[in-house]
Amino acid sequence: MSFSLAVVVPAYNEAQVIGTFHARLAGVLDGIDAACRVIYVDDGSSDDTWPMIVALAEEDPRVEALRLSRNFGKEAAMTAGLDAADADAVVVIDADLQDPPELIPELIARWLDGYDVVYATRGERDGETRTKKITSAAFYRVMEKLSDTPLPRDTGDFRLLSRRAVEAMRGLRERQRFMKGLFAWIGYPQTSVTYHRDARHAGNTKWNYWRLTNLAIEGITSFSTAPLRMATWLGVSAAGFAFVYGLWVMLKVLLWGDPVRGYPTLMVVILFLGGAQLLALGVIGEYIGRTYAEAKRRPLYYIESRRGGLWPSADRGPPPPQR
Ligand code: UDP
Ligand code: MG
Repeated sequence: MSFSLAVVVPAYNEAQVIGTFHARLAGVLDGIDAACRVIYVDDGSSDDTWPMIVALAEEDPRVEALRLSRNFGKEAAMTAGLDAADADAVVVIDADLQDPPELIPELIARWLDGYDVVYATRGERDGETRTKKITSAAFYRVMEKLSDTPLPRDTGDFRLLSRRAVEAMRGLRERQRFMKGLFAWIGYPQTSVTYHRDARHAGNTKWNYWRLTNLAIEGITSFSTAPLRMATWLGVSAAGFAFVYGLWVMLKVLLWGDPVRGYPTLMVVILFLGGAQLLALGVIGEYIGRTYAEAKRRPLYYIESRRGGLWPSADRGPPPPQR
């Protein structure tokens, strides 16, 4: 055995599929020459998921189980799994068999090639409506425009992370966790493997449009302060316009007078105050943006490799297979 592998599986009300899922996953793991563990994270399920996971743990010594105290959402469940995973390579996979466990050996092969993050990109998607495809494409386009870290398109959370990538993820403790973005943000050599995403095996998706919209908002707001910057520009342009228009009103009065008494003063005061307020809001927005960036306490950088005498142990990529 040359390396250790941990498979993290977040599961929320997956009693209908978890048995089938584990059978398929176990079959794949049997064929991998590594010390394998499967970490099931029950995200506060209200059905039989937990007893079923416990039963799996009793049957299969590779299985470890975690149960969160309530439903915290997939992102938190994945984080709990990554925190618990102590392995050279960690795979994150959905329990609903939409991510084929059969792809894991391919992910491992790319990792052995020297990549730290190998994400699975879906080719075609079955069982998804046209609207979902269109909205998801629109989301990626907006994200690309707004955020500094490019987000790989058409990837779910199905991916393999090297030990140091997992350690990097552990350092990101922000509460608004947009995992897809975080995986991309940590950097390191990343690559993708294309696969065919099946429709859900059984059970229902936990995502509806409301949750997806919220996820999209979370993605945008946690990787960009562009919306705040928009407030600044709106404030500046509104203030500029108000100022010019106020001058014009004043000039008109001085040149020709105004038949409506009080109108010019009122107009000038309103425009001035409105402009000043918007400008001040923009300024406040800029500071909030900075506070927000600092509050996330993200590490400033990660080192990918070092050379030269200063570094006694040159950073290594994934361990070479010693087979
Ligand atoms: N999941 C979770 N907590 C939640 C919602 C989902 O752990 O609050 C798990 C779920 O059990 C599955 C994975 O996250 O293993 C993906 O969920 P789902 O299939 O509902 O999402 P979709 O594939 O539709 O994006
Ligand atoms: Mg799914």
